[in-house]
Amino acid sequence: MKEMEGVLYQTNAPTGVDPDNIYFVQVDPNKCEACGTCEEVCGTGAIQSINDEGIHAVVNPAACMNCGQCLVNCPYGAIYEGVSYVDQIFEKLKDPNTVVVSMPAPAVRYGLGECFGYPTGTYVGGKMHAALKKLGFDLIYDNEWTADVTIMEEGTELVQRVKEQGKPKARPLPQFTSCCPGWVKFVETFYPDLIPNLSSCKSPIGMLGPLAKTYGSHESHVPAKKMYTVSIMPCIAKKYEGMRPELADSGYHDIDATIDTRELAYMIKKAGIDFKSLPDVKPDRELGESTGGATIFGCSGGVMEAALRLGYEVLSGEKLKDPYIKAVRASSGVKAASVPIPNFGEIQVCVVSGLANTIPILEQVRQGNSPYAFIEVMTCPGGCVNGGGQPLDPDLRASLFKNVMARVNRRYRMRQTV
Ligand code: SF4
Ligand code: SF4
Repeated sequence: MKEMEGVLYQTNAPTGVDPDNIYFVQVDPNKCEACGTCEEVCGTGAIQSINDEGIHAVVNPAACMNCGQCLVNCPYGAIYEGVSYVDQIFEKLKDPNTVVVSMPAPAVRYGLGECFGYPTGTYVGGKMHAALKKLGFDLIYDNEWTADVTIMEEGTELVQRVKEQGKPKARPLPQFTSCCPGWVKFVETFYPDLIPNLSSCKSPIGMLGPLAKTYGSHESHVPAKKMYTVSIMPCIAKKYEGMRPELADSGYHDIDATIDTRELAYMIKKAGIDFKSLPDVKPDRELGESTGGATIFGCSGGVMEAALRLGYEVLSGEKLKDPYIKAVRASSGVKAASVPIPNFGEIQVCVVSGLANTIPILEQVRQGNSPYAFIEVMTCPGGCVNGGGQPLDPDLRASLFKNVMARVNRRYRMRQTV
């Protein structure tokens, strides 16, 4: 076990294992105080009391969406991560025959600064890329690049689905977003009949892995077989996603390793890098440029807003004058909105975060009564900025000690005006 930013991690990096059989989070029974907070925040019943004393454990990894909300909300720090690639990445960084590629998600750059004394939500993207270079990453790619690609793909798919309604073989509405690995696993596990409603698009990291080993390989003149791609996420469930065997479109496994924001902070400190003194560095141009639409992926409502920016222009044929569609921004829970689109009409959409909140909405879809064309779901309250791999919030933990009932009202880290 290794402690990183206040969380314990098992330092194993499994290969060739079915990720459905891995415990990405588990309870240390010696630290569990049987308060039941984890069971209350869990949307699936995967974590339960296992004895008369009320000691809890993840009882079935297949029913665990790996979101880590139990971990960040446990007032006693009793929950640890079961997988860490940190040691393996340090080895690869020393290997002259391996080209190590960094691929950080949008929300990481809004959480990482907390580990270095910056106020909650401070943007440290330039220093993050500089730190990755200092650590020895050879190619600095950015998952924001493929967040933009996701919007082009997912927004186009939504427009197609809307237009094909009433025609033979029309794909169903509402379309669900497919970026969040906890949410995708939730549909696959508990609502498999609604898989056709999930967007057919991969998540941004699901796209960047193969693009790094194909287009990136071509542009950088590095053979794909020498590349080692590292997904850097605010999320524990992305470790599960990175291991999915079907993510191999490059001809290799697309994502070789996944770490979360806490582990990146640990690596920077372990390497003795003075984070605050770093200059701002941009990612490599071939897979590094992005727009503000990519940045807002990190908060609940961001994918919806970015997709509607595209859908508005395609469906109306008009330029969108104000890109801020604030009606779909949501800090937590459920937010429904009706968005007027000229020459088309109103489009009904819904933004949800927290898996328990999805159940009535999914039941409505199952019964054929859903009014929505597009539903965005993020497993973690408020979206990826509050993901299970983000730095622990000391204020939250302190308040949990005082009142373990005050659990999921985490602060909204993302700047509101991106
Ligand atoms: S929240 Fe932590 S201390 Fe409370 S029951 Fe769950 S694991 Fe045990
Ligand atoms: S990681 Fe998420 S789904 Fe798994 S036990 Fe914890 S809260 Fe439940």
